[in-house]
Amino acid sequence: MSIKYKIIELIQGDITKLKIDAIVNAANNGLFGGGGVDGAIHRGGGKEIDDQCKLIRERQGGCKTGEAVITTGGNLEADYVIHTVGPVWNGEKSGAEEFLSSCYKNSLNLAVEKNIETIAFPCISTGVYGFPKDLAAEIAVSSIMEFLKDNTGIKKIILVCFEDESFKIYKKLLGLYNSN
Ligand code: ADP
Repeated sequence: MSIKYKIIELIQGDITKLKIDAIVNAANNGLFGGGGVDGAIHRGGGKEIDDQCKLIRERQGGCKTGEAVITTGGNLEADYVIHTVGPVWNGEKSGAEEFLSSCYKNSLNLAVEKNIETIAFPCISTGVYGFPKDLAAEIAVSSIMEFLKDNTGIKKIILVCFEDESFKIYKKLLGLYNSN
């Protein structure tokens, strides 16, 4: 299912299957690959992604929470993977909201730097990292909207929900109850 909202598009599905300039990975600090979407992206991309993550690890020790790094897409359909590290949810006032917002903004800034025009995001931090799905969605949309105020060259941003719950939350949030 797919819903268009100006340049933001909402879909439910597997981000690794998208033919697009860049997909964003909800990575870990060591860029090792892991479970969830991270595992799926590393499996789909293969050795090329693993090797480039290793180089980044050697160069700068991985990726800090809220920051973003880029590799090519390896065997994936996407040309690039932007790896960003979401915060683990530790409750309100732990700074997690700001870190999550930084994930979206830093990923988009990196995309612009690389002349990437189409980019897809998973629901960062809402799996193993335990961020409340509704709050994470609000932060995702507000951060993207903020970024779009002085955009820049990005032509399409796809929000990819894997499960029904997130998809429903985003649909509501984007005010699109009646459009499917
Ligand atoms: P985190 O560690 O940041 O919480 P997870 O991978 O555990 O990352 O979960 C982040 C989100 O990615 C969850 O909403 C999960 O349902 C979703 N997800 C898992 N696999 C995929 C996939 N192949 N494509 C898109 N989203 C996915």
